[in-house]
Amino acid sequence: MTSENTSRRSECEELLTVLYEYVDGSTDDRTRARLQDHVDRCPSCLEHLGIEQQVRQILRTRCTASAPSDLRRRIVSALRTETTVTTVETVRGADGETAQVTRRTTNRTTEVRYPGQ
Ligand SMILES: [Zn+2]
Repeated sequence: MTSENTSRRSECEELLTVLYEYVDGSTDDRTRARLQDHVDRCPSCLEHLGIEQQVRQILRTRCTASAPSDLRRRIVSALRTETTVTTVETVRGADGETAQVTRRTTNRTTEVRYPGQ
């Protein structure tokens, strides 16, 4: 029992050491097979690995070095679009006469910022 625990513990440590390489698929076949075998038997490492793989998956899909060109183009064009807000207000003067006041506000964005940079 004691020796099994010790052995399992060291395998866990080994897996954690090469976890990133393992997830990336850059470990050699023998190491990979051994670790895969260990993960199959070790719930704690399986959980670790699952979390790491999910993180990798998210990073791969969301944090690409550059946004797809079509998406980038649409974002930039949306940001550059002029937004004109027109408000019409009816005001009544002291003499009882009314007048319409038209206000036109144009917002124009020319600066593009990417969050986190
Ligand atoms: Zn383990």
